[in-house]
Amino acid sequence: MLDIQNVHKSFGKNEILKGVNLTVDKGDVVVILGPSGSGKTTLLRCINFLERADQGTAKFGELTVDLHSASKKEVLDVRKRSAFVFQNYNLFNNKTAIENVAEGLIVGRKIPKVEAYKIAREALDKVGLSEKYDSYPSQLSGGQQQRVGIARAVALNPDVILFDEPTSALDPELVGEVLEVMKEIAREGTTMIVVTHEMQFAKDVAKKVIFMDGGNIVEEGTPHEIFVTPKEERTRRFLRRVL
Ligand code: ATP
Repeated sequence: MLDIQNVHKSFGKNEILKGVNLTVDKGDVVVILGPSGSGKTTLLRCINFLERADQGTAKFGELTVDLHSASKKEVLDVRKRSAFVFQNYNLFNNKTAIENVAEGLIVGRKIPKVEAYKIAREALDKVGLSEKYDSYPSQLSGGQQQRVGIARAVALNPDVILFDEPTSALDPELVGEVLEVMKEIAREGTTMIVVTHEMQFAKDVAKKVIFMDGGNIVEEGTPHEIFVTPKEERTRRFLRRVL
């Protein structure tokens, strides 16, 4: 369903991605692990054109785009097929929860307001925020704000949702509620790529686990293959540190 090929990205002289390939099948949850600075976030951002890759292609179903030279229209086409959940939520602070969720539907998708609000209510219900439609981000906990961020992505009904360390800005006691929502939408068959340091989530939910280091995919496999029988020394060393 999603096929990413040969992604290269440098910032100045720093080569951050060195030719990354990644395939994701429909309905799969792919978790990307790796040490800080290995390029995980940059890879996600290149897939959604939050960064321009220096080279690479992405195939979303029948749509193939060049990650370096895609036109504005192609970028919009990719953004229709993918949604991004940010580490720091990226909500509009002057908009309520429901306005945050409806905004992309009304402005981006040109869905009539009444219909957009209906979809937004359903998405907020799904993430357990039925009581919070009219709350502003400042009136919500970090976990609730991130659930609004997830509702905003779900409401767009994309082919794939890209999660960039969705729980790493949260106080520890708020991480569980966000992971539960992510598990629930995974169970519903949502295709997801998740950059995270939450090893238990990777073990429980991932179809495929990818270990990145130094701008390359070092190893990929099932959670069992990566966590129990890793082949590469670099993977074993990383796991020894984090488990
Ligand atoms: P972490 O787990 O710490 O978030 P990561 O694997 O997601 O790490 P990236 O955020 O992709 O790593 O960053 C990889 C490297 O690229 C880092 O050294 C970072 O400083 C650098 N980098 C990322 N974005 C930029 C930018 N816009 N300009 C310059 N350097 C950048």
